[in-house]
This record gives sequence, C-alpha cells and structure tokens, in this order.
Amino acid sequence: MIDSCVHTHSSFCDGKNTLSEMAEKAYSLGLKAVGFSGHSYVSIDDFGILPHKLDEYLAESSRLKSLYEGKMDILCGIELDKFSADTIDTSKFDYIIGSVHAITDNFGMYRVIDGSLNRFVSAAEEGFGGSFLSLCSGYYDQLCDFVLKTKPDIVGHFDLITKFNRGSKYFDEESSNYKNIALEAIDAILENDSVIEVNTGCIARGYRDKPYPADFILKRILEKKGRVIITTDAHNVDMLVSNTDMAADILRSVGFKAVCELSASGFYEREI
Ligand SMILES: [Zn+2]
Ligand SMILES: [Zn+2]
Repeated sequence: MIDSCVHTHSSFCDGKNTLSEMAEKAYSLGLKAVGFSGHSYVSIDDFGILPHKLDEYLAESSRLKSLYEGKMDILCGIELDKFSADTIDTSKFDYIIGSVHAITDNFGMYRVIDGSLNRFVSAAEEGFGGSFLSLCSGYYDQLCDFVLKTKPDIVGHFDLITKFNRGSKYFDEESSNYKNIALEAIDAILENDSVIEVNTGCIARGYRDKPYPADFILKRILEKKGRVIITTDAHNVDMLVSNTDMAADILRSVGFKAVCELSASGFYEREI
C-alpha cells in the first residue's frame, strides 16, 4: 500500500469527484498524504482547470489542508502540460507533475497523442509521414525539452506514447529502434533531478496491463540511480490506490528496493 497518492484529478478538470470527496476517500483508505494535480489549462485544446477557476482550486485545497491538519497531508499541485508551461505561475503550487499529452508535428500542427485512437493514428499518418517511430521520436524529444526546461518535481507517464499500441500494433515496442529512442530520452531526463512516476491509471481504464513506464525503462532508471514514485492518476475516488501493489511487485522484480513518497515536507523514501 502506498503512503501518498499525488497524481489525482477532480471535478475542477476532467475528474469525477470533488477535492473534498477525494480527500475523504484518501483518509478513509489510510493514506498519509493526498496530492491534487489538476490539469493545467491548455487554451488550444480547452482542457484543464479554467483560468477563472484556479483561485477557487487553490482556496479549496487550502481549506482542506486546514481541515485535515494533523490527520493527513494535503498537497496542492498541478499536472503541467507542455502547451501551458508559459501561462501558469508554478510558484502557487506545492509540486508540479510535468506531462506531455500533445506534441507539435513536422508541420507545426498541434497533435494530441493520448486523446483517442483516431487522433493518435492521424498524428503519425498526417503529421509524421506515416511513421509511428518518427511520432515516438517527436514525442520523446519534446518531452525531454519540456522536462529540462521546466524541471518538474515529477515526470508524468513517461511512455504515454504507447497508450494505444497494445500488442505493438503500430510500432514494435521490443525493437531496438524504439527502445533506443525511449532510453535516450530517459537518460536525458535523469540528468534532471525529477522523480519518475510509475503510473497505474492506464490499467484501471483498460488501456494497458502494466503501469507506465515499461520494464526496460524502469531498469535503466534503476541503473542510473533515478527515483520513482507510484501514482494512480485517479480520476475518481475508486481509483485512488488501484493497482499500486502490482506496481510495487513490478518494481521489486526489476530490482528496486524503495520508492519515493511525497509529504508536506517533501519527498522521502519508503522501502518496498
Ligand atoms: Zn496526464
Ligand atoms: Zn493525470
């Protein structure tokens, strides 16, 4: 069981439950900390916490922090998207998850890579000359640039580009071509001190059988002495701790002895 779940969404963005309901459930599960990480607003796609709702998000988080004081830490973070990096004052938040959900294609067009299968396929076909490997290169290059520029506390769903690729349908995840692209990116990102999340949200939503990132990436993180944190990317109260034991099992099988947890005083290590 995890101590903290710090990748969560609420009705302020695309989640189902209120912040208060998420906190209540986290407390009933015995979590030591819960972190809110609403999507940052992306104007080109009109998703995330609407700019005029941001103060309310911060105020409600503050109210809940006081309400649970001494019982459970509440952290107010944000899942910062690459396309809103320049418009969000990150100093207002306790922590930042840096995530890429969309990239710029070869023609400068905005391409969502995790929204739907159709959008993923058309990103490769129309934006990257029909090459899914080129789409992968574009994704990882832009993820690296974003992480090295913004230095988030946590890097979100590192290999999200595999979301619609179950069974290696569009590109071979076992090929050295793909693995080299992903490994080059994780090496670059680990030069920064960000913690890499092991995100189980894709399992509950039926896209994958295992968390992000894939085992070969976890192995490289371990070799490079990188740090990981288990998160569920919960969009409702029922997802708050789902599949976290599986994530810990996978990490142990790769060789990890500990994971990071987040509290009001920062990251600490927990043995697994
Ligand atoms: Zn995300
Ligand atoms: Zn998320």
